[in-house]
Amino acid sequence: MTSRILTEFLEKGFADLKSKGLLNTIDVLESANGPIIKVAGKELINLASNNYLGFATRPEIIQADIDATKEYGAGAGAVRTINGTLKVHIELEEEIAKFKGTEAAIAFQSGFNCNMGAISAVMKKGDAILSDELNHASIIDGCRLSGAKIIRIKHQDMADLEAKAKEAVESGEYGKVMYICDGVFSMDGDVAKVPEIVKIAEKYGLITYIDDAHGSGVMGHGAGTVKSFGLSDKIDFQIGTLSKAIGVVGGYVAGSKLLIDWLKSQGRPFLFSTSLTPGSAAAAKEAFILMENHPEIVEKLWDNARYFKEKLKGIGFDIGHSETPITPVILGDELKTQEFSKRLIEEGIYAKPIVFPTVPLGTGRIRNMPTAAHTKEMLDKAVEVYEKVGKELNLI
Ligand SMILES: *Cc1c(COP(=O)(O)O)cnc(C)c1O
Repeated sequence: MTSRILTEFLEKGFADLKSKGLLNTIDVLESANGPIIKVAGKELINLASNNYLGFATRPEIIQADIDATKEYGAGAGAVRTINGTLKVHIELEEEIAKFKGTEAAIAFQSGFNCNMGAISAVMKKGDAILSDELNHASIIDGCRLSGAKIIRIKHQDMADLEAKAKEAVESGEYGKVMYICDGVFSMDGDVAKVPEIVKIAEKYGLITYIDDAHGSGVMGHGAGTVKSFGLSDKIDFQIGTLSKAIGVVGGYVAGSKLLIDWLKSQGRPFLFSTSLTPGSAAAAKEAFILMENHPEIVEKLWDNARYFKEKLKGIGFDIGHSETPITPVILGDELKTQEFSKRLIEEGIYAKPIVFPTVPLGTGRIRNMPTAAHTKEMLDKAVEVYEKVGKELNLI
């Protein structure tokens, strides 16, 4: 027997979402998540993944996964602190720290988990967190979980940050004060103003936390946004994911040895959730080695991104102010955005609508992710379809 109250809640909730164009359909891929995917028996050019470097299907990475799985088994068998820390986990963390230019690193099961664990390991009730209003959902949830006071900062507005940092610190109301933001904002592709953040943080004694999920493997020849500014030793927490450019799954914090030791002792997902599979840890490690030895992979990503963005802009779309390969095509209205994506897919281009609550209401968009694995021909074909559908729906 199911609860009548639950059923009513769910049915009403679905009807509401549907009427506002906020209900996304979930498609099933019948192939690997590469530049071409198969959905419902049809091959499509894929512009929807976060597989920036094509690493999800890279043979060397798949092989590393297979080798480690054979050696260490399918699963780690326990949480890290009990007996789930395998040699591959340590090797991965050493590789990450080396690549990021920090003293140490800790791997989590996902980027989301990282934010659940790392923020609340340090920030407590009585502390304050200054948080950019467009931060990723996992940052918002991680901040809430900590119990600290959350103070919203206008998106990338450094004057607002400075004013609120001054107010929070000088009020004497709070213990510690942290500033937290995305390194690359996932829906707009703009980059955190790291030098200004560092300046303000130094002036007011803020703890700094940059979640570079979309910057790791992309910015700074792959080492991320913070390193691209040469400020690796100035940001306390550098978060990255192993699930986007790295192509596998997992997340990490890079920072001082003191901080990483603390997170290994206090990070709750580290303590209470089974560690990354050996295959995933080894595959992710291989991805960092590949980036180091083959800088041309990251270059190809940027080359493809520049090419694609120029063409889309050229035919008259609003592609926002992205500074990275993230290429939004901003359409505004949610229902129109859904319709646009549907038509793109029918025409062979897989690009998904992003609407509220992932982005603010009225800023619906199709988010495109050109990757290092796309060919120019694939990107040309995508632009051709964009032009066709754009004209059909009177948008260009
Ligand atoms: C995608 C994303 C995450 C989540 O990373 P996963 O490894 O997929 O859990 C966390 N933070 C930001 C800023 C992201 O864009």
